[in-house]
Amino acid sequence: MRLLIMGPPGAGKGTQATYVAEHFGVPAISTGDIFRRNAAEGTELGREAQRYMDAGEYVPDEVTNSMVRNRLAEADAERGFLLDGYPRTLAQVEELDGMIAATGHRLDAVAVLVAEIDELVQRLLQRAQTEGRADDTEEVIRRRQEVYAEQTAPLIEVYRQRDLLVEVDGVGEVHEVTQRLFLALDRVSES
Ligand code: AMP
Repeated sequence: MRLLIMGPPGAGKGTQATYVAEHFGVPAISTGDIFRRNAAEGTELGREAQRYMDAGEYVPDEVTNSMVRNRLAEADAERGFLLDGYPRTLAQVEELDGMIAATGHRLDAVAVLVAEIDELVQRLLQRAQTEGRADDTEEVIRRRQEVYAEQTAPLIEVYRQRDLLVEVDGVGEVHEVTQRLFLALDRVSES
């Protein structure tokens, strides 16, 4: 399976991505995690990404695209993958199309976690208090939602047009949302 998972910041994408990837036996590839790991290790990529992440902005497409290209070229992604947090811009969609086409495969589905922005902002503010994430001040949280609405939400229509969209209610207990995703994506994998 070649899958994407999308949704506004705070919708629980990362957690669900891990479960879905395990369910289908493919690696979960999170661009946010790769950036954070690089930042923690102090690599050049990490240092560059950090400034954008701290401001709630997107890391430039060229940087993100080449990182994903390298990651998808690794052996474990040959038989499938779940991308979490990529693509986030129309330019990234095109780039990913090229990467997948070059392997002779195609995307199977794009899962979208549907949730209200206001509720998510509250959830993120709570998380910021308990985890103390540097990119989780109220101003940055609101900026991340804005950037998502402007640059990433339009991608939903692109994938809807391609008949790849699987929309799932992202509100509820983690395991409830996971079950919804399994149900919807199992249908895709069986068809
Ligand atoms: P996430 O953990 O997916 O919320 O990502 C954390 C941060 O990493 C984002 O707010 C962006 O600054 C950066 N990032 C992750 N994925 C991308 C992407 N596909 N394009 C640009 N920036 C990204």
